[in-house]
Amino acid sequence: MKSGGQGAGDAAEPAGGVGELKRAAREAIERRRDRLLQVSVYLQRHPETGFREEHGAALVADWFDGMGLPFETGLARTGVKARMKGRGSGPTAAVLGELDALLLPGHPLADPGTGAAHACGHHAQIASMLGAAVGLACVREHLDGDVVFFAVPAEESTELEWRRELVRSGELRHLVGKADLIARGAFDDVDMAMLCHTSGENAPRLSVGDSHNGSVVKRVSFEGRASHAGASPWRGVNALKSATLTLAAIDAQRDTFRDEDAVRVNAVMPYGGSAPTAVPDRAELDIVIRARTVDALRHACDSVDRAVSSGALALGTAARTETTLNYLPHHQDPVLVELCRANAETMFGREAVAQGWHRGASTDMGDLGEVMPVLHPFTSGAVGDAHSRDYRVTDHVAAAVEPAVLLAWCVIDLLASGAGEARRVLASRGPRRPAAEVRSAYEELRAGFDADSAFDGADYGGASPPCSRASADGNGIAGSGPEGVE
Ligand SMILES: [Zn+2]
Ligand SMILES: [Zn+2]
Repeated sequence: MKSGGQGAGDAAEPAGGVGELKRAAREAIERRRDRLLQVSVYLQRHPETGFREEHGAALVADWFDGMGLPFETGLARTGVKARMKGRGSGPTAAVLGELDALLLPGHPLADPGTGAAHACGHHAQIASMLGAAVGLACVREHLDGDVVFFAVPAEESTELEWRRELVRSGELRHLVGKADLIARGAFDDVDMAMLCHTSGENAPRLSVGDSHNGSVVKRVSFEGRASHAGASPWRGVNALKSATLTLAAIDAQRDTFRDEDAVRVNAVMPYGGSAPTAVPDRAELDIVIRARTVDALRHACDSVDRAVSSGALALGTAARTETTLNYLPHHQDPVLVELCRANAETMFGREAVAQGWHRGASTDMGDLGEVMPVLHPFTSGAVGDAHSRDYRVTDHVAAAVEPAVLLAWCVIDLLASGAGEARRVLASRGPRRPAAEVRSAYEELRAGFDADSAFDGADYGGASPPCSRASADGNGIAGSGPEGVE
């Protein structure tokens, strides 16, 4: 799909007042409206999961090429980043678009081959990012700072085993896109970042200032010992029961989670034995822990770790836990939020703009918000619940074109007139620290969560291991396991 000649010089040069610049940017976006709608619809129908978004990345690169913007490709595998120079050397504001889809076979617009489907509306973000670039290109000579346009990969947590392999091989440093981009320094030359995400059905026209939970994923495995479930169950060490006790112990602690921390602990059991005729010698749990703050996340993780230990201890199994911080809690910059609100109210009217609320879901914009001021409004334009088979963007003007105007206007406010607003945003965060120092503190925060741990319930307190009792009874079915049972 060719972007065509949406060059920077196709609009009359505005006189320079902020209102004039905004009008010019809006008109430029309106002129490209059909092309932007095509991008949103086209990507919706060509979904790709995280770190595999080659098609979407190529489209973005082609668009940047058509605009004459210098750009880099292949950042965290598929990220594409362009820089538009302003007239001065002020702060750099980034407009982002997330490239990835979910893995959701059965979604009406799912790719029949891969099962990928845009059930979170990210395709519209790419169109709004490109639209903002079109709008800002015609006013760039009035901006006292640069604008980065960045198509970023892998916001969603999908195909985690494959991603863990990429981390182990050194190709990735983290499991989600923005975390990986931060770690490799791809945001070192950016001072603040924004994107506009689609909301769910019956959402307000625009919601400004929402926060999100952070999240940690734990993969827990319990190792016990198999035995014949009928003939010699006493010789077994039941890993499945360790797993079910762990779930019960987690549930028993839910009262300790404070309402304001918005803690969620959700688990599934991918494996709990292969046949009821044998005592299961292995069980696995995948657990996602979410909370509103880093401290609450740590508290909830401690609760889950104790629950795992209790399950292992009760049965005498060996528990191994692989813990990975998935996303940090997401909080938007209050100065950016107010600036966005003013623009949104101008565009849509005061009644149409909702005060943001706390969402139990998570996003890697939380990671970016840890290292720089971020803005993340939500727009209407979709039906269904996000991440469900019913979810799809149906109004691409609301989801893609109007957010392009909104984002362009926010950048104009930040970077026009000496970039005073951008400097105010940065000043509100206290003294600047070198990018490398910020990145290192971020990595340290992540590393405080990431760990592989082991707890052997059979070792506790010198209790007799179950095998000594079993071997003393002379049952004579030694070596009986799942393979040998009938
Ligand atoms: Zn999503
Ligand atoms: Zn999303």
